[in-house]
Amino acid sequence: MITMPKKPKSKSKGKKVKRWELYEVKDGKASLKNKVCPKCTSILAENKGRKYCGKCRYTEILKKSE
Ligand SMILES: [Zn+2]
Repeated sequence: MITMPKKPKSKSKGKKVKRWELYEVKDGKASLKNKVCPKCTSILAENKGRKYCGKCRYTEILKKSE
């Protein structure tokens, strides 16, 4: 019988955003951490200083803190 080398734990490919991480649970209530789109109420994705709605392409540029 040939013993196979132990496989290293699979590297996580790409970060998957867990849905629940977008929420902050307080007093048993989940509140959104992220802003929602004012147009279609989807959760805005934050990316490089801007917030972006993947649904309706609404983009909000965040103020730079310098
Ligand atoms: Zn939207």
